[in-house]
Amino acid sequence: MNIRTQLTLRYIGIVLLVLFAMYLYLGEMLKDSMSTRITSELEIQAGLTREFLIEKLPTKDNFTYDAIDPLVDRLGKTGKARVTFIDLEGVVWGDTERDGQALRAMDNHLKRPEVQDALQFGSGIRDRYSDTTQTEFRYYAMPIYKQTSQNGKGTLIGICRLALPMEAVNTAIGNLRQIVLFASVAGLILAILFSIFSTKIITKPIEKLTQMTQSLADGKIDSRVPVDSKNELGQLSRNFNLMADRVQEQIDKISEEHRRLETILTDMGEGVLLVNGASEITYANPMAISMLSLPNAYVGKALIEINRIPELHTLMQTAEQTETVAFAEIRLGNLTEPEAEVTVVPVSTGEEYVIVIHDVTKERQLERIRADFVANVSHELRTPLTTIQGYAETLLNEDSPRSKTSEQFIVKILNHSSRLSRLVSELLELSRLESGDVELKRIPCHLNTFHEPILEVFEPILEESELVLKWEMSENLPEVSVDQQLFMQVLVNLIDNAIKYTPDGGTITVSAEISTSEAFEGANITSEEISMHVEDTGIGIPLESQPRVFERFYRVDKGRAREMGGTGLGLAIAKHIVLRHNGRIWLESTLGEGSVFHVAIPL
Ligand code: ADP
Repeated sequence: MNIRTQLTLRYIGIVLLVLFAMYLYLGEMLKDSMSTRITSELEIQAGLTREFLIEKLPTKDNFTYDAIDPLVDRLGKTGKARVTFIDLEGVVWGDTERDGQALRAMDNHLKRPEVQDALQFGSGIRDRYSDTTQTEFRYYAMPIYKQTSQNGKGTLIGICRLALPMEAVNTAIGNLRQIVLFASVAGLILAILFSIFSTKIITKPIEKLTQMTQSLADGKIDSRVPVDSKNELGQLSRNFNLMADRVQEQIDKISEEHRRLETILTDMGEGVLLVNGASEITYANPMAISMLSLPNAYVGKALIEINRIPELHTLMQTAEQTETVAFAEIRLGNLTEPEAEVTVVPVSTGEEYVIVIHDVTKERQLERIRADFVANVSHELRTPLTTIQGYAETLLNEDSPRSKTSEQFIVKILNHSSRLSRLVSELLELSRLESGDVELKRIPCHLNTFHEPILEVFEPILEESELVLKWEMSENLPEVSVDQQLFMQVLVNLIDNAIKYTPDGGTITVSAEISTSEAFEGANITSEEISMHVEDTGIGIPLESQPRVFERFYRVDKGRAREMGGTGLGLAIAKHIVLRHNGRIWLESTLGEGSVFHVAIPL
C-alpha cells in the first residue's frame, strides 16, 4: 500500500470517527433535552387537569361513563395529551382515545406501573408502547382527591393519567441521524479531496526522489531531482542532489584513476596478474597474458590449470603461508637460465595476490655475453702474462752484467705482471662462480680445520706487521657442510683484507657460533645456521661505502687499495661463494675503529 492510500485511509478514518462520536453525543443530548421537555409539559398539563377534574368530577358513587368521558375528552382536546381517568378499582371511566363501547371494553388499569406508583408515591411516570394507539407514550399518573369538607385533603376518588407521544423524540433523533449521514458523506468526500491534495504535496517529491535514486542505481549518475520548495522535502531533495554530485565527483575521479592505471598496466613491460585466495586469476594485463600464454577466458580459472610451472605455485604458497612478499627467479620458457623475476605480493587481507613478472631474458643474455667476454679476455691474457712473467724472472736470475736501472725495470715488470696475473685469475674465478660452472664439493667439517692452513698462509705477514690473529672457535661447534677449497678462499679473502686495512700492532679475531635466523620475516619459520665473524681493529669503512664493498672492483680508497695490492674482487668472490652455499654475508663497521665481516651458512 503506497503512502497516498495510507494517508487517505487515515484521513477518512479520522473523519468517520469524529462524526460517529458526534452522532452518539448529540443523539444522547437531544434525547435528554426532548425527554425533559415532554416530562415538564406533562407535569404542567397534569397540574391543570387535576384542578379541572377536582372541580368537575362527580362524587365516587355517581360515576357514570356519560358524566366522566365527555369531561376527559374536553381535557384531551384542550391539551395535546391523551387523558385517561381510572377509579380506585382500576375501571377506566374516561379516555380521550376511546368512546362508547370501546371505552367500556378497556381492561382494568389498576396494575399499570405508573398507576401503582401514583397510588404509592403521589405520581408515576413510565415510557411504554401502547397497544391501544400503536405508538410509544410517556405516561404520567397522579391521584385525584375530591374535596368533601372545607378543610382537609379530601377523599381519593381515582387516578388521572396523561400521556404524550414519544414520537417527537424519535423523529428528532431520526433527523439527527440523517444530518450525520449527510455530514459523513460530505466529510468523506472532503477527506478524500483533502488527502489527495495534501498527500500530493508530500508524495510528489518523494516519488521524484525515488525515481532519481532508481536511476542512480541504474547507473544514470547525472540524474537530479528538481528542487521546487524550501520546506524539509526541498532540503532533502537538495541534499540528495549534493550527494549525487559528490558521488559523481568520486566516480569521475575513480574512473580517471582507473583509466590511468589501465594505461600503465597495458603499456608496462612487466606482466601483472591478480589472483584470489583460491588461486583463480581475476585480472591479467596484456604482458602477463602473453608471458604466460593465457587463453581468452582466463578470468576465474585457477592459475595451476592454465599454467603448470611448479616454481610459480611454490612461490604462491610461500606468499600465502608467510603473508609477506615472496620473490624468485623462475624459468617461464625452455631455457636453462631463469627468464623472469617473479614477485608475489599479498594484498591487505591475504585474500588477493598481485603477481608481478619481470622478464629478465635480455639482461641475462647481456650478463652472459659480458661474463663470457671477461672470461675469454682473462683466458687469452693468461698465456702472454705467464710468458712475460717467465722472461722477466729469467732475466732477473741471469748473471750477466746490467745497469741498476734495467734491474729496477725488470723487478717492476715482474711485480706488475704478477699483479695482473692475480687479477686475471680472480676474474676467471669470479666468472666461473657467476656462471654456475663450479660444482660444490660439500664435505662436513669443523671450522677449526681451517685454522692451520690459514696460519700457514698468513704467519709471515702477521709477524712482519706485528698483527695478532686470534682464532676463537669452540670445539663444540657442529660440523658445517662446505666446499673446503672455496670456503678457505672466503676466509683468506676476509682475513687478507683485515690484515691489509689494519695498522701495525692491531688484532684480528676470527670467531663463530650457532645462531637462528628468521627465514621468513613475520612468520614463525626459523632455521639454524653457523655464523662466523672476522673482526679487525683497522681503519673501518665509511657508512656510504658499506653496501657497495661487495661489488666487483669497488674500492673505498683506490690509491691505498692498489698500493696494498688489492684487485677489488676479493669480497665479490667471497660473496658469490657464500651465496652458492645458500648463506649470507654482511658487515658492520665504524670508521677509525674497525670492521666485522659476518658469514652465515645454514646447517
Ligand atoms: P681489495 O682487493 O681491494 O681488498 P675487496 O673486494 O676485498 O678488494 O674489498 C673492497 C674494498 O673494501 C677494499 O678496497 C677496501 O676499501 C674495503 N675493505 C674491505 N675489507 C676491509 C676491512 N677489513 N677494513 C677496511 N676496509 C675494507
